[in-house]
Amino acid sequence: MDDFEATIVGELDRWQRAGKVAQFWLRDDDAVEPTAPLERLLSISGAFSVPLTLAVIPAHTGAALVERLQPEPSCSVAVHGWSHRNYAGPDEKKQELGRHRPAAEILDELQQGFDRLAELHRERFVPMLVPPWNRIDAALVPQLAGLGYQALSVYGPEKPAALPLVNAHVDVMDWHGTRGGRDPQALAVEIAARLRFMFDHGGAVGLLTHHLVHDEAVWDFMTALFTVTADHPACRWTPVADILRKQQPSIG
Ligand SMILES: [Zn+2]
Repeated sequence: MDDFEATIVGELDRWQRAGKVAQFWLRDDDAVEPTAPLERLLSISGAFSVPLTLAVIPAHTGAALVERLQPEPSCSVAVHGWSHRNYAGPDEKKQELGRHRPAAEILDELQQGFDRLAELHRERFVPMLVPPWNRIDAALVPQLAGLGYQALSVYGPEKPAALPLVNAHVDVMDWHGTRGGRDPQALAVEIAARLRFMFDHGGAVGLLTHHLVHDEAVWDFMTALFTVTADHPACRWTPVADILRKQQPSIG
């Protein structure tokens, strides 16, 4: 067993000895239409029966993606903002859903995004908002339930919020360095750390991918991760809707 496998399996074995099962979920951002990288994502996740949640950009998507996903029963679709446009200034972190525009304008777009994807994707639609760049003005969050959203998915440990959070916790991409895949052993250590937190505090581990910009390192990492986890008795790759159903609404 190499270090990568030992890091993850060592933790999962501890879960198994305790009679516990860790929930994993896979969130992939920025899908719009069928592409070669999307095929690869569907193929790798499908090969290991890993349910997939695509965060789809409503303004730019259409019937072609709906058609492509037809034979993919374990693929869900969530709302990735409206147009994924950055309204922040050059010195700020990128944001579509920040304080740069009137709240009413943003909420109107988020309603359109919800309605459009619900209509297009029907039963695979999940009423969850995935803000572009994982950022949203906190003042908007209490308004989301009124638009039909039942959950919000950003990045990092879940904090108290006006809507249930189903976050991603491990990002495969090295955005600020190579802009390719991160070191697999560093990712394994992060997954094991998240598993240790979950052992005591509950929750799931969300893996975040961006199929359109993956290099070979990311595809290799995903294959390696699925290989060591998918058949482990203490790991369950779970549809996000199932995680959402178990989520307790929190107020904050
Ligand atoms: Zn995005």
